Amino acid sequence: MEIQKCSSCKDDLDREEVESPRHDKDGTVLCDECFENKYTHRCPICEELFDEDLEAKIAPKYLLILNEVSKYVGVAGGLYEIVEYPFYRDGITEMSIIKGTVHWLCHIPTDTDMEVDTSTIYYICDGCAVALVKKTDVSHTMRWT
Ligand SMILES: [Zn+2]
Ligand SMILES: [Zn+2]
Repeated sequence: MEIQKCSSCKDDLDREEVESPRHDKDGTVLCDECFENKYTHRCPICEELFDEDLEAKIAPKYLLILNEVSKYVGVAGGLYEIVEYPFYRDGITEMSIIKGTVHWLCHIPTDTDMEVDTSTIYYICDGCAVALVKKTDVSHTMRWT
């Protein structure tokens, strides 16, 4: 049998990876590890792993920017919807968000339970993003009525 290699790290694929291969956006085969490094993210709120929708133009869709990080990336802290890729520019020592590529959705409520370190931005899963927007909407209504 021909040995298949991962198109990214060039490692040989194991039997399981050959049988149910995962693919890069360009259709080449990736080993599980490379696929996960590239396209799987851990949501810091529910702590579940989620895969990017490789068919979608915008994926992942939601971005969490902590207040601690906001000064480095140039936008305020909060939950953002990504409307355009690429949405950031990599600097030599830092990255910055490109104007107009992300839309602010809501603040992160201070009681939000999260597993994060405060030096990076996070993708969050669709479910948690929607729940967060709903939650902040509710507190708004309660405050103003
Ligand atoms: Zn690989
Ligand atoms: Zn989540």
